[in-house]
Amino acid sequence: MKTIGLIGGMSWESSAEYYRLLNELVRERLGGLHSARCVLHSVDFAEIEELQSAGEWELAGEILARVAKGVEAAGADLVLICTNTMHKVADQVAAAVSVPLLHLGDATAEAVRDRGIRRVALLGTAFTMEQDFYRDRLRAHGLDVLTPDAAGRALVHRVIYEELCLGVVKDESRRAYQDVIAALVGEGAEGVILGCTEIELLIRQEHSPVPVFPTTRLHAEAAVAAALEP
Ligand code: GLU
Repeated sequence: MKTIGLIGGMSWESSAEYYRLLNELVRERLGGLHSARCVLHSVDFAEIEELQSAGEWELAGEILARVAKGVEAAGADLVLICTNTMHKVADQVAAAVSVPLLHLGDATAEAVRDRGIRRVALLGTAFTMEQDFYRDRLRAHGLDVLTPDAAGRALVHRVIYEELCLGVVKDESRRAYQDVIAALVGEGAEGVILGCTEIELLIRQEHSPVPVFPTTRLHAEAAVAAALEP
């Protein structure tokens, strides 16, 4: 089994999910007391969030590139950035290491395509929904990507930073997300990418009329598949 390197802490609420999922998936595949070989470097999210809001992506990328090097030095055979948003600096991180970076956008797009879906809604931070780095990665797999209107995007973004990243899960926010999803389904979305690693703490399949694609789970599944490849 290969060792999975995790660049986490963005937020730790979802990194904890990554850790649980990796171990559960390895146990499902190998049975008994088997668990995932992994190395986690968890950053202080406040520092990263400050750089995000200041638009200091280059600097944030330098920090994550340094973390990636440390994770590789600690024995990782592959590296995951445990957040959709910070895939904005994926190229910078990938260039810093000699092991492969398993891109969350690719793992997600492949899962969407496997379900036979082409027109898909994307929920995530404003950075993920409004900038090109993530949507273009999905489009490169032939997907047609829909995002909420301005009010919907502001709501989805606010709930991520003010609630989910702090471990707060509210029924009223779930209902608000469901309204956003309903509007996107009305526009023709055949599925919904939960394109922020905390959203699956709030929204599960039973909350959506169309298939949901939980990116933390999909990333963990792709990592375990890669780690167990012969
Ligand atoms: N975990 C989130 C994501 O997947 C948001 C936190 C961040 O900005 O990194 O985008």
